[in-house]
Amino acid sequence: MPKQTDLDRTYLQMAELWGKLSKAERKKVGCLIVKNGQIISDGYNGTPAGYDNTCEVENKEFHPRAKNKLETKPEVLHAESNALMKLAKSTNSSDGSTVYLTMSPCFECSKLIIQAGVERLVYSEKYRNESGVNFLNENNIETCFSPLKPEVPAKPIEILERKPKHPAWLV
Ligand SMILES: [Zn+2]
Repeated sequence: MPKQTDLDRTYLQMAELWGKLSKAERKKVGCLIVKNGQIISDGYNGTPAGYDNTCEVENKEFHPRAKNKLETKPEVLHAESNALMKLAKSTNSSDGSTVYLTMSPCFECSKLIIQAGVERLVYSEKYRNESGVNFLNENNIETCFSPLKPEVPAKPIEILERKPKHPAWLV
């Protein structure tokens, strides 16, 4: 049986891959829901079924020097909402599950996570507003921040010192 930390990391990597399916340009987020060692749902940020999944519109009132002129459309569902709603349509249950998310949840989604009976949240990136994670903690849901990318630049790889090749070694 793999260690929990290894499982967490692998599920998060899978959630990140899943998030790549999102058509959002500003931020792609992926979510997996796992229960009893099985992935029971998945989601990424996108529009409800029947829409073309375009997630942003150009904000014409945006400050001209602003970095991002795109604005997320109000009908976009966040990855975790999509995964929970997919479960709502299935015969499975989120009660007692773990949510893997590539971005910490917003406050709105946190309410759904609590109400869906989720026991644990593992996430790899912090959303600018941490009110969602704080709300989960207040409601006794275990939250675990597990960054996939190092926050500080990785140390250069140490080059192992090799013994010089000496002719005497050659047989
Ligand atoms: Zn959300």
